[in-house]
Amino acid sequence: MARTNLFDLSGRIAAVTGGNRGIGRAIALGLAQAGASVAVLARKADNNRAVVQELSKLGVAAMARTLDVRQRSELEPAIAEVERTLGPLDILVNNAAIAIVKGALQADQKSWDTVIETNLTAVFLLSQIAARSMARRRRGKIINLASEYSIFGSSLIPGYSASKGAVVQLTKSMAIELAPHNIQVNAILPGWIDTDLTAPVKNTAQYDEIILRTPAGRFGAPEDVAGTAIFLASDASNFVTGSVVTVDGGYSAR
Ligand code: NDP
Repeated sequence: MARTNLFDLSGRIAAVTGGNRGIGRAIALGLAQAGASVAVLARKADNNRAVVQELSKLGVAAMARTLDVRQRSELEPAIAEVERTLGPLDILVNNAAIAIVKGALQADQKSWDTVIETNLTAVFLLSQIAARSMARRRRGKIINLASEYSIFGSSLIPGYSASKGAVVQLTKSMAIELAPHNIQVNAILPGWIDTDLTAPVKNTAQYDEIILRTPAGRFGAPEDVAGTAIFLASDASNFVTGSVVTVDGGYSAR
């Protein structure tokens, strides 16, 4: 009997928050290369449009919706629009996140709230909305972006670190609850990846220290993360849930 391609995403519908640049863009393009129709949900309309053009060139259906994931009342309409336009959601990638560099002594309530709402609350609410839809069809994949700071503490970005630690626990908790509905919930834990988020580290002593500490001896490219996302979005991972898959060139192994 011919084996079907376990990684084939043809006919699957995916939504990627923050899919208009960096890791999110690479994941959106990766899912499309595997055959999925892809919706990009992020704030900057110009960047959204540019990625939709790239996605369309791959021959898949694609759309974008301007969305600030902190706007709670916009989350349900956003997923509804994706489902009206592309079809019922099979894959949600919670990728959008921000870091605000302020140690605990300097941090104010507003910066704390902004980080937690973007990186954690939105992940929960979007996953909840998506899972309710997926549960009706007894099939779904939720992929959350964790971080090295899910493991390690940081004196510079305590809110980011707290949010990313919580994303891992949320991933495990929802994985347990949703497994009977045939919905798999996993996290990708990227190491240091070359994007706008890590740009401030470039040309600093920390950059050289990171490369020295990383067994692979380099920063990752956004595309390095895409293959794991394809795996976690596909039937190849149907018995994988509650996992945190590290994509970090060995950084956290040391
Ligand atoms: P970038 O800063 O390069 O991109 C962030 C993306 O999120 C952009 O597309 C941005 O689009 C979107 N975004 C930010 N805030 C919001 C919001 N309120 N609503 C909607 N979209 C938003 O980040 P990376 O690509 O580097 O990171 C992607 C993910 O990977 C994040 O979860 C990050 O924590 C994680 N990660 C990254 C690492 C790295 O080394 N780069 C390491 C470990 C984890 P727009 O501005 O248009 O809204």
